[in-house]
Amino acid sequence: MLRQALRQFSRLQWTSFPSRVSLAAGSQVSPLAPRTLSFSTSRRRDIMEMTGFTDEQLTVHEAIKQICSNFPNTYWQERDQQEKDPKEFHAALARDGWLGIALPEELGGAGLGISEATMMMQTITQSGAGMAGAQAIHANVYATQPLAKFGTKEQLETTIPNIINGTWRTCFGVTEPNTGLETLKLKTVATRTENGYSISGQKIWITCAQVASKMILLARTTPLEEVKQSSEGLSLFCIDLERNQPGLDMRKIKKMGGRAVDANEVFFDDYKIPAETLIGEESQGFKIILHGMNAERCLLAGEALGLGYAALEKAAQYARERIVFGRPIGQNQGVAHPLADAYMKLEAAKLATYHAARLYDSNDGSVPFHAVGVACNSAKYVAAEAAFTACERAVLAHGGMGYAMEYDVERYLRECFVPRIAPVSREMILNYVSEKVLELPRSY
Ligand SMILES: Cc1cc2nc3c(=O)[nH]c(=O)nc-3n(C[C@H](O)[C@H](O)[C@H](O)COP(=O)(O)OP(=O)(O)OC[C@H]3O[C@@H](n4cnc5c(N)ncnc54)[C@H](O)[C@@H]3O)c2cc1C
Repeated sequence: MLRQALRQFSRLQWTSFPSRVSLAAGSQVSPLAPRTLSFSTSRRRDIMEMTGFTDEQLTVHEAIKQICSNFPNTYWQERDQQEKDPKEFHAALARDGWLGIALPEELGGAGLGISEATMMMQTITQSGAGMAGAQAIHANVYATQPLAKFGTKEQLETTIPNIINGTWRTCFGVTEPNTGLETLKLKTVATRTENGYSISGQKIWITCAQVASKMILLARTTPLEEVKQSSEGLSLFCIDLERNQPGLDMRKIKKMGGRAVDANEVFFDDYKIPAETLIGEESQGFKIILHGMNAERCLLAGEALGLGYAALEKAAQYARERIVFGRPIGQNQGVAHPLADAYMKLEAAKLATYHAARLYDSNDGSVPFHAVGVACNSAKYVAAEAAFTACERAVLAHGGMGYAMEYDVERYLRECFVPRIAPVSREMILNYVSEKVLELPRSY
């Protein structure tokens, strides 16, 4: 359905605009409109260089940008300040089928790749929605991937269409308070019962658990002492979050940024789930989520990039317009050069990100898994760092106004820590590259 809509959208765009260049310049900007002058406050083209993207990526970018234009920065400021879920935004994307962008067509998805999904997530953060906008839908796009690949026909038929059409939202439950990045040691257990499993344990930082009906949950089904390798004995489930059922509790975490979306501690105490909630084979849960981990790194890299470009765009606009000492502050190289440097860092990270996504999507066996892993981890790392640089410099370029909520860049700076920390920290990526690429001794 979405594919069809995309084709239609694409046709409309191609006929409304005489050339690719004009499309790339943004649907709001007519090629016939008068040229903007350097100090103009009127809308300018995106600062991100759009050449080199595929037609599908450009179409996704334009279509998502159009949807996001209904959710201005003031919407996100309010949601952030009031810690209110952006449910209208989630609904708008679900209405047009976007949550199924990377799900197979036979399940009602668009059957596009991670390259297009990354572009969608980037366009969302870049619109001003920031990480809050991305996180409101992230798990629905990403955590459904292992389900789509390993789920039973019945699981797919009942769950996937309801996630795509927005009836159900999902969250992803991996991180635990006592084991952190050492995922293989996680303590939440799923013990066999007569009809299914009983879950006991605790998860932390679970985004959108308050509004989700489903959780993709990783739990241990065979004790660590009884498995040959620690990666065995973990199982993946797609469970209902039944708040009225005994054994489930959750508590919101007060956090630094992205306050529109909730993050939670989730407690399970003999919480009963049916056997049909198991995804794939028992004990193979870690291998199953590995399948999606590289995809998630690409999405996060895209989200980081979008945030960085959004911050930089604001900074450049402010630097053009703010007059101090009788001239725009951007005329001072001390203001201009850090922004120009941040731009080049973002552009380099953009190449790394879409290169990684392309490798991920080329699943014909021609690219070794190792190469995909290195590319996706590296992309997430450099994009998150480039976003941090851009957001920090954007705040500084605004002077005191960088600290005011009205100017958005303080919100972006607060949010840009997320891709540096999650789903895997900078340090663990450095460990990974040290070991797997440089062949240095494993340090942990
Ligand atoms: C806003 C937000 C949303 C999140 N959403 C979700 C979600 O929806 N679902 C989910 O499951 N999780 C989620 N997470 C959790 C996130 O994935 C983890 O916070 C992240 O993986 C880091 O784990 P930790 O916090 O336990 O850090 P820890 O493992 O406690 O590590 C702490 C610090 O020590 C460093 N460190 C640890 N070991 C080493 C080592 N051997 N070498 C070098 N450095 C090391 C780490 O790099 C890190 O800087 C979210 C986190 C945040 C902040």
